[in-house]
Amino acid sequence: MPERRISKTQFMMGRQCLKRLWLNAFRKDLVPPLPKDQARRFEEGHAVDVLAREYFKGGKLAEAGPGGAARALERTAALMRAGADTIYEGAFSSGTLLVRCDILKRNAGGTWDLIEVKSSTGAKDEHFPDAAVQAYALEGAGVRLGKVRLMHVNGSFVKKGAIDPEKFFTLLDITGETRELRTETVRDLGLFLDTLGSGRAPDIPIGRHCSEPYDCEFRGHCWAGLPEFSIYDIPRLGWEKKDALKAMGILRFRDVPDDFDLNPAQRLSLSVEKSGRPAVDRAAIREFLRGLEYPLFHLDFETIMPAIPLYDGSRPYQQVPFQASLHVQSSPGDAPRHLEYLGDAAADPRPGLIRFLLENIGPRGSLLAYNSAFETARIKELAGDFPGQAAGLLALTGRMRDLMAPFRSQAYVHPEFKGRVSLKRVLPAMVPGMTYKGMPIADGSAAQLAYLDLLSGKLPAAEAEKIRENLKRYCGQDTLAMVKVLERLYGLA
Ligand code: SF4
Repeated sequence: MPERRISKTQFMMGRQCLKRLWLNAFRKDLVPPLPKDQARRFEEGHAVDVLAREYFKGGKLAEAGPGGAARALERTAALMRAGADTIYEGAFSSGTLLVRCDILKRNAGGTWDLIEVKSSTGAKDEHFPDAAVQAYALEGAGVRLGKVRLMHVNGSFVKKGAIDPEKFFTLLDITGETRELRTETVRDLGLFLDTLGSGRAPDIPIGRHCSEPYDCEFRGHCWAGLPEFSIYDIPRLGWEKKDALKAMGILRFRDVPDDFDLNPAQRLSLSVEKSGRPAVDRAAIREFLRGLEYPLFHLDFETIMPAIPLYDGSRPYQQVPFQASLHVQSSPGDAPRHLEYLGDAAADPRPGLIRFLLENIGPRGSLLAYNSAFETARIKELAGDFPGQAAGLLALTGRMRDLMAPFRSQAYVHPEFKGRVSLKRVLPAMVPGMTYKGMPIADGSAAQLAYLDLLSGKLPAAEAEKIRENLKRYCGQDTLAMVKVLERLYGLA
């Protein structure tokens, strides 16, 4: 039997959870299809990798092609022999380990610097063992290693014309940190190889590690069979308490004992769950409603947040609003008037959106958004990025009110909320019959992907038009839902 080899990806999986490592090797059939938003994140990560190569120009790509790892190893060795100074995606093996390195740069003295590219805007804990295992494999393969460097996106970069990679990236020297991890790397590698040599998946319970540092693709397998509202859905309940409940054999939220250590909000949710009846604080709802001034502008934005900024004056991962919906009511219970804006995808959507806001939101009345901190932050950013309109935009932020507030403060708790207060969760409980189910675009993430599809410019006209209609329907539904939820709050008050 050939000796087992472990890849860098598997090594990182093993550090997160031994069961993930084992399932990845032997039960790939349990991996669900990649969600579209995650596929998009991978694409973005790849685009950042490619841009990083512009920083270290003139390198050679050690492409794997159909020959897979063996071909990549051969090609890398050939490039090194031929005197390449910079190699992208070089493959190296040190017996039990196989790694691909984002960038290798030869130094004057014949040593090689390893550059690990990350699309985050800073160094994260998990980046160090990731680089350390590559350094270990390189040295094991006989490469004379110089520095180990982490290359991440510079979060304060502001686009102005073509992207300059030297300004877009930040380089950190992490040679010392990776050296310190050598013993741990060797120990981990031994443990992971033993795990892969076992005929059975390790018995690892679910826990914090299922989503930290990465979302595990086996959640659907390991988390199956949990009750609908389980102890893992209790908002802001620490893992120590979840583990304590599990050790007591308690998985359903409603089975949590009354004397268990919960905070007041969790306790109220528990009593609603046990009784099956909503909790209503009418005085608090009235207080919230008194804070609204008419005409009322129900406002919602949709945004994209590209890693590599698309528009001048924007930063990496900046939330760029491309769409807005407004439902305007002149007095409580009034039939709302609907107005909307959607960028045309050919240019920066923000100037048009600013005009839409300033032309349609009058000088009086409250702006109501669901989780208004998001809309407020976007308006402030628009004011910062378009100083000519700053005064008008900033005047809006002082009028912002949050429709999520009465739910977040538990002035109203419905058993169907199941510990969540997003609009998608609150709406069907407050306004039965009004739902996002069946809509072609039914959440913010899908809206974002749809707009990015429009931006690609590759869609046939009819399909692009359909997407635009679906986007309008979705964003309009958000503000109409707010009108209906508010109506219900008036009813309760
Ligand atoms: S879902 Fe959790 S327990 Fe299961 S393999 Fe993934 S990380 Fe491990």
